[in-house]
Order: sequence, then C-alpha cells, then structure tokens
Amino acid sequence: MNYTQKEQISTITSSQSYLRFPSFLSGFTNTDSILHDSSSGRGVFRLRGVLEVNDSDRICQECGGVMHIHNTFSCNLWHLNFGQNYSFLEFEKKQFLCPACKTTKIQQVPFQAQGHRITAELLQYTRDLLAAGSYTLKQVAEITGLGKNTVKTIDLKRLKDKYTIDGTTLIKPERQARCLSIDEFKLHNGHRYATHIIDLQTGHILWIAHGKRKQVVFDFIDHVGLEWMNGVEAVASDMNSDFQEAFEEKCPHIQPVFDHFHIIKNFNDKVVSEVRKDEQRRLEEDGRSKDAESLKKTRYILMSSRETLKRKDREAADGKVLSKSGLLFQKPEVIRKPGSEEKYDQLIRENKLLFTLDIIKEMLSEAYKAPREPEMASLIIEIMEICYASENKHLQWFGRLMDRHFEGIIAFATYRISNGPIEGINNKIKTLRRQGYGYPDDEYFFLKLFDISRKAYVRNPPSHKIYD
Ligand SMILES: [Zn+2]
Repeated sequence: MNYTQKEQISTITSSQSYLRFPSFLSGFTNTDSILHDSSSGRGVFRLRGVLEVNDSDRICQECGGVMHIHNTFSCNLWHLNFGQNYSFLEFEKKQFLCPACKTTKIQQVPFQAQGHRITAELLQYTRDLLAAGSYTLKQVAEITGLGKNTVKTIDLKRLKDKYTIDGTTLIKPERQARCLSIDEFKLHNGHRYATHIIDLQTGHILWIAHGKRKQVVFDFIDHVGLEWMNGVEAVASDMNSDFQEAFEEKCPHIQPVFDHFHIIKNFNDKVVSEVRKDEQRRLEEDGRSKDAESLKKTRYILMSSRETLKRKDREAADGKVLSKSGLLFQKPEVIRKPGSEEKYDQLIRENKLLFTLDIIKEMLSEAYKAPREPEMASLIIEIMEICYASENKHLQWFGRLMDRHFEGIIAFATYRISNGPIEGINNKIKTLRRQGYGYPDDEYFFLKLFDISRKAYVRNPPSHKIYD
C-alpha cells in the first residue's frame, strides 16, 4: 500500500508530460498532460485526450443510415482548476457525413457547457462562486480563468434561471405580502430612473422596472394579479401623487403610508430653507449683511432637532467631540465652547418664524411617536392650524401638503411602516454600481438587485405587531 503511494508521487514529480488526471468526463480519456506558463503567472494544464465515438453518433437523423467520419476538428474546452493552475482539455471532434443522403453533423460533446467553450463542471463551479454573492465579476474571472464577459453571461443566465419564468418574465412573489414599499432610484448616469417595489417583511424586491411611475405600478399589479393585491393592506411611499394614485385606481382598499423621513425632508427642503432664504434677503435689504451672513451658517442648526443639539452639547461638555467622520472620540482637554443650543435659542428669539418652525418640528416628532391614529391626528391637525395661522406662504404650503395627505400620514400610527428597508436596498445599489455591475445592461443589473434583496437581510426588529 505504502509502496503504491510512493510510486504515484514520484510519477508526478519526475515527469509532468505523462501525467494523467482521473476524469469523470463522459467519453473523454486523458492521454497526456503538459504544464504551460501563462502571462498571469499561473500555470495552465493542457490536458490532451481522446473523445470516443458512440454508435449513436454515427446514426443519420434524416434517413437512419450509418454515417462516416468525414472530417475532424481540434477542440479546446476550459476545465476546472488544479490547485492554482488553470486547465483546458484538448481533443478532436468528428464531423460525420451520411453517404446516403449527404447530411452532415458534428459530434456532440457530452460534457461541454451549452453555448460556451468550457466544460459543464467549470460552468457549475462558476455558478456556485457567483451564487455565493461575495465575489465581483472580476474576482470570479480571476479564480476561474474565464473572461469577465463570459462570467457575466454565465451570471445573467443563472439569475434568469432563478428569477424568471421564461428568461424575460419575472417570477411571482414567493409569498403573500401585507405591506409594500415603493421607491424610485437613479440609474447609472443619473438621468434615468427606475422604480422598485419590495415586500416590507422580507425585504425582497418583487418588481423593478423603468418607465413612468404610474405605469410601473399598473404593470406590477398585472404581474401579481388582483387576488394577490387583495392580501396587501398598505404601501409606504413618498408623497409623490403618481404612486398613490396608481394604487388607488386599481386597488382602492390599499392604505398609502407616508413616513416621517419624507415629511421631514419636505419640511427641511421646502419650508426651513425657503424661510431662511427669505429672512436672509430681508436682513440684506435692511443693510444687516453681517446678520444675513451668520444666518447662512445656521442651516445645520435649524435642521437638527433640539434633542440632537442637546445631546451634542452634553457630549461637548463631557469632552467628547464629533470627528468629521461622525465617530466619537475623547478630547484630552475639556474645552466648553458656547453650545449650539444657546446659539439656537438666540436665533429663535430674534425671529418668531424660526421659532414656529422649531415648534412644528418638535410636534412632528411627537406625532410620529403617537401610539394610535386619533392621537396622531390631533397633533397633525394642530400643526396644520399653526401653518395656516402663520400667514407665511411656505408654512401654508406645508399645511396644505399635510391636509392633502392627511390619511396617509396618520396611517403611520397603525402600520408603523416606512421606506427605511428600501433605502437600505438603495445603499446596496450604490455598492453594486461601484463594483462595476450592470452598466449598461439594465436587465442584468435589475436581476442582480433582485438577487441581492434575497440574501440574508438584516433589519431592525419589528416595532409593531403587524409583523406577526
Ligand atoms: Zn442520411
């Protein structure tokens, strides 16, 4: 036994030229092997051999006659790695000719991957690497020795097998969803947008498409069917009316839910900023350009909530400061600078309107903490009343915005859903783009996102019994 092992080892070390690899490749016999150098510095085994001809290969499909070997072609197929060395098979493939009807055919290679000049084993290995999801196309290309485009073609086919019915139609949702989230994201060049719809409980992308927002919703409803839609209770979205209208048109039972994030974004972008600009203009016209200048710098202060400012002041007092990256670090000497909160108080004393913004922001925060719809509704109504009473056009606009979306705003108290999970996917989209996926092939990019949303999905623990 020991003797046999020694003999095998010595064969490998003494003569690489006659090394034979065991083969599970049906019909292929390895006759000799040569190790070549490659430009990448990795060795390449050239596994020469013979492909046997079966009786069935010789039968003419047209007339049933026995065919003759008419010609031979040299054939190379990339195969699995041996350690760090790549390998390819080299053998001859026959062309047959039927003497009776003159039909020709090429010998089938049973272990060749369809559509590729690689073995089925290498295809399977490549697919497994891609399925792991932790390698970029470039890395898989490096590991397998295949070209990046070949790896991409293999991945596209893999994703189509997994997530489409016939190569183009997406699979139906795997389960009934109760709450959906819909959002838009920027495609590669930033000019085009795509919309995706996710199941809020699983985080799975259920639909992803280009095009007009309403049409995307209609296509999604066609895809899943009205019966499935009947099981859906709520959809989280931004306040753009297109999505909402499209769902209302086809499925009026579905409750839109507008989350805190979008409300605050509207408030910051369209009220706080505008009021500040107006105020700046007023100060400049009054010849108080220095005051106007300082107001420019207060944008950040105005946009943070009082609680955040308090915390930061406390941390500054404790000797902790925020670095630019947002990480806390300990400062050796405690220097208490005038707190941002003090600056804030001075500001709002100077300007009643800013004070109103402050109150509204606090109230919005409270409203989104309300345990049930009636409590939330009364807080939102109060905010609307303040907006209308302010006689400021930006605040009145905000009041009308809340008025028009009232139901969808207070529905938050019942459903407690937000676009948070879909924002998480948007971050993954950015990562994928950085890794060079997709562009300019949106079909591939969409399937890749579909796949990524089905990977282990880490989300915050549910905050409400809706997730039973
Ligand atoms: Zn024939």
